[in-house]
Amino acid sequence: MIRLRTLTLLLSLALLSGCGMLHSVAQSGKLLAPERFGLIPIAPHLYVEAGTDEATRDRLRADMDRAEAAILKAYGSVSARPTVQACITENCYASFGGRDEVAKVFGQRILLSQRGLNWHFLAHEWSHAEMSTRLRLLAWKRMPQWFDEGLAVTISEAPEHSENHWQFLISTDIPRPTRDELLTYQSLQQWLAGVHRFGDDKNFERVAQGQPTLSPVYAAAGHEVRPWLAQVGSQGLLQVIQRMNKGMDFEAAYANQKQTP
Ligand SMILES: [Zn+2]
Repeated sequence: MIRLRTLTLLLSLALLSGCGMLHSVAQSGKLLAPERFGLIPIAPHLYVEAGTDEATRDRLRADMDRAEAAILKAYGSVSARPTVQACITENCYASFGGRDEVAKVFGQRILLSQRGLNWHFLAHEWSHAEMSTRLRLLAWKRMPQWFDEGLAVTISEAPEHSENHWQFLISTDIPRPTRDELLTYQSLQQWLAGVHRFGDDKNFERVAQGQPTLSPVYAAAGHEVRPWLAQVGSQGLLQVIQRMNKGMDFEAAYANQKQTP
């Protein structure tokens, strides 16, 4: 029981930490040459640490397929092909420059620690990669962080950020951002400040104290984007991307889309 719960909590941390690292640059050039540093390919775009057992390899392959299917469903096609490099030991992870965080990203390359091996995590990160691939650089810089995260939360279907979790936060009166506040989280810095303010980043301590994880900001982003995506579908999402690439403000593209699904 305890181990299962710990695992669940660690997966939650994985999602959070993975996000935080999304826009950072891996310091290690080793990521560009995984085979020279003890990682072996087991599927297209998927490398694992040598010594990974067959059951874990099978699970990772299935996780990649499921993550890709989730991206396909949301975006209508798959543009980004991030190369995933999975470590099963902390030594492997540390050797690539990893520390306490669960993942590092260098361009389209994702380095996973053993704490981040699941389809939710992959789909979440893949959505970020997909968005950054489809948007021109200037449009990508204008894309609000709350939307990018809310979309990733929606696509990944992570239980820790789900509508059920949102309703739990409401029923237990746990502080969470209002919609107006969420929409102010435009930049990564603003997003991270919100995450810190509402304590999405305190799950490590909660795990240590045997408490359930809380993700008010991620859940709020999912709560905002989930019904939107359900309403407009991948066509609506692609239209927002197209409009932003043509120079339209996000707010205008998003609001228009809401009125004319
Ligand atoms: Zn994220």
